[in-house]
Amino acid sequence: MAKLNNNYLKLKAGYLFPEIGRRVKSFSDNNPENAENLIKCGIGDVTEPLPLAARNAMKSAVDELGNHDTFRGYGPEQGYDFLRTAIANGDYRDNGILVKDDEIFVSDGSKCDTGNILDIFGNGNKIAITDPVYPVYVDTNVMAGNTGEANESGAYEGIHYMPCNAENGFVPEIPQDRVDLIYLCYPNNPTGATATREQLEKWVSYAREHGAVILYDAAYQAFIQDQSVPRSIYEIDGARECAIEFRSFSKNGGFTGVRCAFTVVPKELMAEDENGEKHSLHPLWSRRQSTKFNSVSYPVQKAAEALYSDDGKNQVKSLITHYMENAQKLRSTCSEIGLSVYGGQNAPYVWVACPDSIDSWGMFDKMLNEANVVITPGAGFGKAGEGFFRISAFNSKSNVDTVCERLKATL
Ligand SMILES: *Cc1c(COP(=O)(O)O)cnc(C)c1O
Repeated sequence: MAKLNNNYLKLKAGYLFPEIGRRVKSFSDNNPENAENLIKCGIGDVTEPLPLAARNAMKSAVDELGNHDTFRGYGPEQGYDFLRTAIANGDYRDNGILVKDDEIFVSDGSKCDTGNILDIFGNGNKIAITDPVYPVYVDTNVMAGNTGEANESGAYEGIHYMPCNAENGFVPEIPQDRVDLIYLCYPNNPTGATATREQLEKWVSYAREHGAVILYDAAYQAFIQDQSVPRSIYEIDGARECAIEFRSFSKNGGFTGVRCAFTVVPKELMAEDENGEKHSLHPLWSRRQSTKFNSVSYPVQKAAEALYSDDGKNQVKSLITHYMENAQKLRSTCSEIGLSVYGGQNAPYVWVACPDSIDSWGMFDKMLNEANVVITPGAGFGKAGEGFFRISAFNSKSNVDTVCERLKATL
């Protein structure tokens, strides 16, 4: 009989969102009169429509495909040059950061890229992951065979978990022992925390000293309001030698359903083979993408390019302003009712400490039953998330106003 990949059997059943779904369904079945009042602030998906610049670019690209003279079939596997150049200029060189056009690899999502990147790393790497965390980093390492089994609390043997809490500002301490691959996500999902330049400098210096690679997820960089907070790991000297950066159009351009993202692999970045000989990772990722991927459709790449036009930039800015006003309202409401609030200043997530003596699933149930609001319990993102809940600012203004009223009435 064909053998399956045993690593998949180690995976814990996707726990968080299915469990939220189950509890929401049971609430709705038992309270049909309240079900339509339910407001979801749980899942990190955008709510506002696609920017006009992107829609227009997509429509004209579709028309080009409908004409013999301008029809296009397969494009370059790493993405069209027009988009790679727009990204390298718009996100990096215009801000004084060196990234070359051919170091940009266009893809259909950062979720896929943060998982697929493990294809180019060998076995036996020590993996460092923050707790709480975006679950994709953990599960893809389990699938790749980089972990042992999970214990009762869901922690996998072999992963170096780095607790993030109010004491360390939700930015982990530098490990005492050697780790090889370090996942950092700032601004952070779920905590909404940012990392300062000094903190990132320490990580870059650790990585260079130990030959480690930082996998830097900057999916939320567009939400940064504080000009002193780095938007890219490459703002730190030496990061080109130790970091891969992931960015996505999902959250800034509202592309969660459209699908477009990119990964930056600098040519200086090296890793060693089993004989200890160093190789650049750039050609490996290029080869991986050429073999297993055929890039993103032409209309979608044109839509992404349009986000860098003047109109596109203004429309993205309005989206960010919309979500950050929501975050501000949620923050101040939670403070007013006496809760400790984190995040929400440079990220679309507000991370709130549960009131005394109630755990994060208890808080979830209370908010569902009494306020008819769906939040995300912190424990779903890892052990260190216990005692907190996440409120997403991805919502309409009126929903956020209602959520704030209900929070005040309930807590
Ligand atoms: C939303 C999100 C992404 C973006 O994923 P896409 O696949 O590009 O939609 C990446 N990282 C984190 C932590 C996210 O929350």
